[in-house]
Amino acid sequence: MAKLIDGKAIAAQVKDECRRQAEQLKEQGISICLAVIQVGSDPASSVYVNNKKKACAYCGIESLAYELPEETTQEELIVLVKKLNNDQRVNGILVQLPLPDHMDENAVIHTIAPEKDVDGFHPWSVGALSIGLPGFVSCTPAGIIQLLKRSDIAIEGKQCVVIGRSNIVGKPMAMLLLRENGTVTVAHSRTKNLRELCRQADILIVAMGKPRFITADYIKPGAAVIDVGIHRNENNKLCGDVDFDSVEPVAGAITPVPGGVGPMTIAMLMHNCVCAAKGI
Ligand code: NAP
Repeated sequence: MAKLIDGKAIAAQVKDECRRQAEQLKEQGISICLAVIQVGSDPASSVYVNNKKKACAYCGIESLAYELPEETTQEELIVLVKKLNNDQRVNGILVQLPLPDHMDENAVIHTIAPEKDVDGFHPWSVGALSIGLPGFVSCTPAGIIQLLKRSDIAIEGKQCVVIGRSNIVGKPMAMLLLRENGTVTVAHSRTKNLRELCRQADILIVAMGKPRFITADYIKPGAAVIDVGIHRNENNKLCGDVDFDSVEPVAGAITPVPGGVGPMTIAMLMHNCVCAAKGI
């Protein structure tokens, strides 16, 4: 039976650490403020934005919510981002994705001042990660590194396979594992022999967006399996990219869905806000 990696408990630890650091900063006269911008009223985005506000409140971080109508133009949004860039009170700026189709997400994200880019999506942050400089790191992969470290799963020298090469998860995940001295392979939809490749992994990170795709025959016995996927199954229950029931008996450690990677994403956002206030 695999060890269950408890993302809820580890996220709670990280948030408590952020809360303590926020208190210490406050004693030094430094407050933390995150501006969250949502355009339109996509229900999933509204849930994420709400959870971010709640986490801010818990950690003692002020949150400013900007809920803009769907018809907002890209120019109007960019004007707001620039205003927040110049607002001394605001340490972090987050533009909730996806943006409506009439907007160019890159153009908007590239407008965020790199020192306030708490999502870690600005090319400046991505470049800093790839050349080993300090900077903000995308919250989901940063959270996965914390899950591994705080579960005593060594990365150094391990064969790590990341399935998925998105800018938000797969690519920064690979860079972070490399930074931790893992031997990293990135798989994607054109990868041949995915099953054989995965069976070599000591650490398998699955971020492919395919419900319960990864079954026991993809797993090296004893491997650590991190499931990034989030889906609703036919019974409207949450499930991941990994077929938990078949993989759990083979793996050495595994994240559940829900309660694995998901809670870490917001916890690491809080961590990035604290770093922004400290002047990362
Ligand atoms: P994405 O942008 O859709 O990327 C999916 C990646 O998987 C792509 O690189 C794709 O390859 C690869 N892929 C798809 N089918 C494949 C196959 N059959 N074999 C090998 N590779 C395959 O997704 P994402 O944004 O990275 O997110 C992935 C999953 O994580 C989604 O379920 C998403 O909802 C979830 N997610 C969760 C959190 C969290 O906080 N828990 C955060 C972000 C995302 P190509 O590049 O070749 O197309």
